[in-house]
Amino acid sequence: MGPPAKSAPIIIVGAGIFGLSTALHLARRGYTNVTVFDKQPYDRTGYSYLEGCDAASADLNKIIRSAYGSQTEYQELTFEAIEAWKRWNDELASGTDLPPGMTTKDRVFINCGNLSMADGDMLPEFEKATIRTMEECGHRDTQLVTTDARHIEIAKSKGMNFAMDPFQRQTRGRANVGVLDSSGGVAIADKACRMALHKARRAGVRFILDPTAGAFVSLVRNASGRVSGIVTKDEKYHNAHLTLMACGGWTPSLLPALDGLCEATAGSVVMYKIPKASPLWHRFAPENFPTWMWKMRDGAEGGLYGFPRDEHGHVKIGYRGTKYTNPCPQADGVERSVPVTRWTEGDKLTQIPAQAMRVIRRFVDEYLPELAHEGIDVALTRVCWYTDSFDNHFVVDRVPDTEGLFVATGGSGHAFKYLPNIGNWVVDVIEGVDLNRAAIRAWKWRHLGDNMPSNVLMEGKKGARALGNVVLATGTVSKGNRAML
Ligand SMILES: Cc1cc2nc3c(=O)[nH]c(=O)nc-3n(C[C@H](O)[C@H](O)[C@H](O)COP(=O)(O)OP(=O)(O)OC[C@H]3O[C@@H](n4cnc5c(N)ncnc54)[C@H](O)[C@@H]3O)c2cc1C
Repeated sequence: MGPPAKSAPIIIVGAGIFGLSTALHLARRGYTNVTVFDKQPYDRTGYSYLEGCDAASADLNKIIRSAYGSQTEYQELTFEAIEAWKRWNDELASGTDLPPGMTTKDRVFINCGNLSMADGDMLPEFEKATIRTMEECGHRDTQLVTTDARHIEIAKSKGMNFAMDPFQRQTRGRANVGVLDSSGGVAIADKACRMALHKARRAGVRFILDPTAGAFVSLVRNASGRVSGIVTKDEKYHNAHLTLMACGGWTPSLLPALDGLCEATAGSVVMYKIPKASPLWHRFAPENFPTWMWKMRDGAEGGLYGFPRDEHGHVKIGYRGTKYTNPCPQADGVERSVPVTRWTEGDKLTQIPAQAMRVIRRFVDEYLPELAHEGIDVALTRVCWYTDSFDNHFVVDRVPDTEGLFVATGGSGHAFKYLPNIGNWVVDVIEGVDLNRAAIRAWKWRHLGDNMPSNVLMEGKKGARALGNVVLATGTVSKGNRAML
C-alpha cells in the first residue's frame, strides 16, 4: 500500500501525544481530511487531571531528558524535540496565535535540567554510557557529573548550579553522586497538549472530543477484511482510508493484536502542595530546582522521579519501581490489563499501592525533610497508566495482516517529550519514507522470540503486580487538602 492520497479520510483514535502530534504533522504535510476522536472532552477539561482526565499525556508536567545511555536514536530524537519545544515557547512569547486560555507568559518547556541520582558513590553504567555517547555525538559538556569540579564550573556558567545538588546533600554531609542533563528540564504537559490541539486545529484537523461522539467502540472492515473506518459510542459509522489507533494504555485492550507486545501498566504518583506563603515556594520553583530521577533502574526499592513545583504549588513525585497491572477478562476470554483510575466509570481506584507510598515516603524523609518541617504532606495521589512494550521501544507501524490500520503507541514511560516531533516520524512510517532509520526500525511491529524482555507482559490476575493482589495505601490524603479532589 502506497501513501494515502492527500484528500483521503484519515481517522486517529486518541488525542494523547501520539494522536495530537500525528494529526499536526499530517496536516502540515498537506493531508486535508484528518479527524481525531477522543472520549475525553479536552476542550472543557484542558487536559487537566484535576478536571477528570486520566490519559498519560494529561498531566501537570513531564521530564524532558536527552540522556539515554547508549540509545542514540532516542538521544537525537530528544535534541530534535528540544529545538521544537523552544520554538513553541517562542511562539507563545510572540503572542501571535495563543491557544485558548494561555498567555504570552506561558511556557511549555523549562530548561531547568534533569538530575539523575545514584544511591552510592559510583555512577551507574547507564550514566557512564550517556556521557560517552554524548561526547561521541558532539554533545560535549551537556552531561555534568555532580562530583566533577570542571563540570560544577560549567553548571555555574550555564546558570544551573542549583541543579547540581538540589537536595542539599553536601551541606547535610551526604553523598551527592549524579549526572545533570543540562539539555533537559520540564514540559508543562497539560498546556503543551492544549497547544498541540490548537496548532492541529489551526492546520485544519477536525477533533471530536466527547464521551459519546468521540468514544471509539469498534473497527469496521469491508468484505475483503480491510479496515474501512470506526464506529463510535453514538452508533455512528465514520469512514476512513486509514485508521491510526493511538489510545495509550487503552490500546492493548482495544487492539488484541498487541498481545505480547504491549501492556497497560500503572505508575504511582503523589502530589504535595506548597502554599504560596511558604519559604519552600521559592526553593522549589523551576528556576531553582530541576527535574530529577533516583535509582531509576534499580527495581522495586528505587524508580523515583520528581519535579519542581508547578504554578499552583504542586510538587509531584512518581514511583515506577513496580509496574502494576489490572488484568480483566475480555470478550475473547483473554485477560488484558485495562486502565483504572479515579475517573473510571464504575469501579474506581483512588489510592496508590502501599509499596509505592512507602518508597516515596522513605525518599522524602531522607531527601526532602523540609516538607515535614513545614507541615506539608501528600495532598493527592494518582494512578497513571503507561503503555509498556516488552522492550521499552515505541510501536509505530501498520498492523500486520490488517490493511488500512496503523498503530502509534508503546510510549513505555518516555514518549511525552516527543510531542512536538514524534508525529513527523509517524507520518514518515505511514508514507514509507526512509524506513531504515534506527528509531523507525526499533518501532516496527515485533515479537519477543527468544529475547529477554525488559518488561514481562501479561502475567494475568495471578501475577504479583496485579492490583487485585496488591495492598493499597490508606490515609494518604491529608484532611486540609481534600478540597483539591
Ligand atoms: C505517570 C507517568 C509519568 C510519565 N512521565 C514521563 C516523563 O517524565 N517524560 C516523558 O517523556 N514521558 C513520560 N511518560 C510517558 C508519556 O506520558 C506517555 O508515553 C505518553 O503520554 C503516551 O501518550 P499516548 O498518546 O500514547 O497515550 P495517552 O496520553 O494515554 O492518550 C490516549 C488517549 O486515547 C484516548 N482513548 C482511550 N480509549 C479511547 C476510546 N475508546 N475512544 C476514544 N478515545 C480513547 C484517551 O482518552 C486518551 O486521550 C509518563 C507516563 C506516565 C503514565
